[in-house]
Amino acid sequence: MTEDPDETPERPVPPPFMWGCCECVRLLLKLAAEWDAPAGCFWEQLQTARHIAEAHPEDVPAQHLEDCELCPEYARRQDDDAAGVWAQHRARDLFMPQTLARLW
Ligand SMILES: [Zn+2]
Ligand SMILES: [Zn+2]
Repeated sequence: MTEDPDETPERPVPPPFMWGCCECVRLLLKLAAEWDAPAGCFWEQLQTARHIAEAHPEDVPAQHLEDCELCPEYARRQDDDAAGVWAQHRARDLFMPQTLARLW
């Protein structure tokens, strides 16, 4: 039978640098509070990814080499806009399940 689409995938444990940052912790707690409805905390996910890309650029993960259709796409684009969105895309891996993090 098909998988239950309502089942919430497991979240990764956020990396240590996030726990050492007041803003990260604040955002993580907001996310945790709304986690039972992942589709409902889109804004919090966006804010968290944007914060990591801007405040912790050295902690943004490297390009995904496997299981990601978006990274090769972003890598081809040269504009600053793409670079920013790409960093946020990779940052989501730090605090979201891969299946959700790599959708956008
Ligand atoms: Zn932070
Ligand atoms: Zn990717």
